[in-house]
Amino acid sequence: MDFQQWHLQSKTQQIRYIAFVTALLYGLYALLESDLTLSYTTLRWMVHGVLIPVSLLVIGGLTYYPKLHQVMRTLLVIAPITALLSNLLFNIDSPRFAFFSPEIYLNVVWTFAISGLTLRYAAISASISVSIVVLITLVKGVNGEFYALHMLWLMSAYLFGVVNAVVQEQANKTLYMQQRTLAHSASSDGLTALWNRAKIAELYECETTLIRQHHYPMSLIMLDIDHFKTVNDTHGHAVGDSVLVSFANLLLNNVRHQDHIGRIGGEEFVILLPHTDIAQATTVAALLQEKINHFDFSEVGNKTASFGLTQYRNGESLSELLSRADKALYLAKDNGRNRIEVL
Ligand code: GH3
Ligand code: MG
Ligand code: MG
Repeated sequence: MDFQQWHLQSKTQQIRYIAFVTALLYGLYALLESDLTLSYTTLRWMVHGVLIPVSLLVIGGLTYYPKLHQVMRTLLVIAPITALLSNLLFNIDSPRFAFFSPEIYLNVVWTFAISGLTLRYAAISASISVSIVVLITLVKGVNGEFYALHMLWLMSAYLFGVVNAVVQEQANKTLYMQQRTLAHSASSDGLTALWNRAKIAELYECETTLIRQHHYPMSLIMLDIDHFKTVNDTHGHAVGDSVLVSFANLLLNNVRHQDHIGRIGGEEFVILLPHTDIAQATTVAALLQEKINHFDFSEVGNKTASFGLTQYRNGESLSELLSRADKALYLAKDNGRNRIEVL
């Protein structure tokens, strides 16, 4: 999950509450306006009483549907621009513009500091808004001599908004990075950086959920380095560790991006291969065997590994799958090691 997605997810509740509160305030705005003698009476009601509140309610409603969060964000970018355009249309020529211009300044601050958008999207929305206001103000002029004050308030709103959004963004990015690091260290093996058993279990759940929908084959390779104890005994534990790291990298470099590799024991590894039947898994295992046999583990020289392979059977648990692969692996050990066995 990238930062933008993470941010959207973590701000869902803020976006929901703010959208509902702002919808309510626009309803009130429409009611107050209807009591005044103003131009564009019907249009004002349509925009402030219907269009904007309904858009905000839709945004609030979309927060309940994670799959539609991108649409929600797009609406969140567009809504303030629409509100601001209508304000200009209704009020720019009015001598009472000053009573309506606070909506413009609040709109800019709302977009940056309150809406729940990231700096990038808030900047897109608010910059479009402010450019339009500046352009129209320059072309049409605003209340004669008060023009400069209007520009000052507009600039202040934009600057306060930017400063707030930059500070918030920095804090959020730190939080995002910390969460990522924590999540990664909770899922991976400290020595080899491969997935740990818990993460493999999580990935297995994801894959089997997808398999129930899309019906594709999946296989599992379990492999164990042969006579690894002699590495430790002969060269020491530190060299043993470096062999494990090299071995893990060798596996990583020779499987597909979508395969999941885990270290589930001292020198025991599993590879979960989605979209792979047992015949294809056997080919993958044979390739890995070849790579391992020819790899030079520096001072240790060549090592071999034994392989136990099996294909996923619908509805079975991870422990059932692992236990079958484990039996195949034992068979490979019993039959002389550096072998591939299938069950
Ligand atoms: P086999 O061919 O039957 O698999 O023999 P083996 O020696 O590889 O298997 P055994 O299970 O007897 O020994 C595994 C060894 O792996 C024992 C243990 O010291 C070593 N080991 C386990 N975890 C680590 C580790 O994190 N680092 C190092 N250096 N060694 C480890
Ligand atoms: Mg071993
Ligand atoms: Mg072992």
